Amino acid sequence: MKSDIEIAQGATLRPIGEIAAGLGLSEAEYSPYGHDKAKISLSVLDRLADRPDGRLVLCTAINPTAAGEGKTTTNVGLSMALNRLGHRAITTLREPSLGPSFGMKGGAAGGGHAQVVPMDDINLHFTGDFHAITSAHNLLAALLDNSLHQGNPLGINPKRVTWPRVLDMNDRALRNVVIGLGKVGDGVVRESGFEITVASEIMAALCLATGLEDLKERFGRIVVAQTYDRRPVTAADLGAPGAMALLMKDAVRPNLVQTLENTPAIIHGGPFANIAHGNNSILATRTALKLADYVVTEAGFGADLGAEKFFDIVCPAGGLTPSAVVLVATVRALKLNGGRDRKELAEEDLDALGRGVVNLEQHLENLALFGVPAVVALNRFPTDTDAELDLVRRRCAELGVDVELSEVFTRGGEGGESLARKVVELCEQDSTFTPLYGPQDGVLEKIERIATRIYRADGVDLTGPARTQLAQLEAQGHGALPVCMAKTQYSFSDDPALLGAPRGFRITVRELVVNAGAGFVVALTGDIMRMPGLPKVPAAVGMDIAGDGTITGLS
Ligand code: ADP
Ligand code: MG
Repeated sequence: MKSDIEIAQGATLRPIGEIAAGLGLSEAEYSPYGHDKAKISLSVLDRLADRPDGRLVLCTAINPTAAGEGKTTTNVGLSMALNRLGHRAITTLREPSLGPSFGMKGGAAGGGHAQVVPMDDINLHFTGDFHAITSAHNLLAALLDNSLHQGNPLGINPKRVTWPRVLDMNDRALRNVVIGLGKVGDGVVRESGFEITVASEIMAALCLATGLEDLKERFGRIVVAQTYDRRPVTAADLGAPGAMALLMKDAVRPNLVQTLENTPAIIHGGPFANIAHGNNSILATRTALKLADYVVTEAGFGADLGAEKFFDIVCPAGGLTPSAVVLVATVRALKLNGGRDRKELAEEDLDALGRGVVNLEQHLENLALFGVPAVVALNRFPTDTDAELDLVRRRCAELGVDVELSEVFTRGGEGGESLARKVVELCEQDSTFTPLYGPQDGVLEKIERIATRIYRADGVDLTGPARTQLAQLEAQGHGALPVCMAKTQYSFSDDPALLGAPRGFRITVRELVVNAGAGFVVALTGDIMRMPGLPKVPAAVGMDIAGDGTITGLS
């Protein structure tokens, strides 16, 4: 089979104007970025305010291997399959980050015959949104350090600055840095650090905002430091929100592209699901719901992270009601969850698979808690054996859950038609969607509910500093915010080594951080990194571009 980039470069793309016209957009409602990308105007949401929404389908997964289990691939393939069945479907996705693309995980534009294109642009600089987010973030950092330098009129304690700088790159050497070295005119010396752009609160704020005005207000609420007398310093105190919003004037508009089969795709925003909330922008999803009958959206990593945050943070913030969930599972990841070595996942192992299926079962039970009907999409890899696929089917049948084989990677939309039919069927059922908690529940209660019901922990322990932070944030009136758990993607627990469906563990929250701009409280567990590093052999070393523009090694 051809590589992802070979398939993508061989695709026949329709001019983006045709894709936009197919959605009923007028020329004034989108701005082309070259031939095959465009930005959609936010005015579309006003024009179509009274049009009923399409059906919202969430694509999530079991606890993954390091390579990913094919959510994006399935998401793209399912939207193509729905289209083939005569429905108007749109896939909505997050924008890829250069960190994983050049590091370990690879790009995020799907795979095989289920990709969004132009995949090279989408995986690289796309329409510049990440540049804008990085700039808005770093402008705020520069204004803060300038205020320290210019006599510190706000009384900021340089030891209590919490706003780092960001960069869209896995670069562990920048995690801790000393800034302001040099002469008198070179700024105030203090320790700081870099995080990856997708971890920026600007990214989360963009993805949860309902428009530019709302985004600007969110920027104003961002807390960047404390004063010597421990009062919060906000971006508004630094006079930053206007210029930050200005930098975001184009980035706030969702990006329109297409799949290999010319299905419209809206790709916008890209927070990770382990350190942030892990879903594409609400503006993208809302726009898509006005333009299509079915919108398939992806939540990052396993359903314990991305889906939980989609249901508990994104849906309430965006007024969204999901109609169905597709839970992507692979034989490979189930074997990993059953204890098989990650280097041996290509070998048939019914014992490990039988043990690992508990991971799938727990995710299915969890999804039922939210009241949204689910189907398992068994994403077929070439190494899967019939006996292995049968075992997964049998276990799902015992649970009374539908399971469909997905072959979109090798066959495109055609390989997802049975899944698409099932999804349509589920969307006809009554969704009794209910989040796990509401604003009336206390912050600790929210964390406990997630930890005990979703992760199945025995309880939650707060470290000393986290206890103090909890008291502070409640006193400051942030207690009604939802909680964004920062947790490893490999396990239901906060220990990446506990695979399958672990029991008899507790969750330790070591820090609670208010992201007032994003509108959630981040609960940090385990050793979760906000600036990842590169692996021993980064994907970057396998990439190249020839003089004629032929790209290799991008996937
Ligand atoms: P996720 O969104 O869950 O992280 P992706 O869809 O990005 O996963 O897929 C992860 C990787 O696995 C990609 O490199 C993709 O090309 C590859 N992949 C996905 N599905 C298959 C499949 N059925 N067979 C082979 N490779 C696949
Ligand atoms: Mg993905």
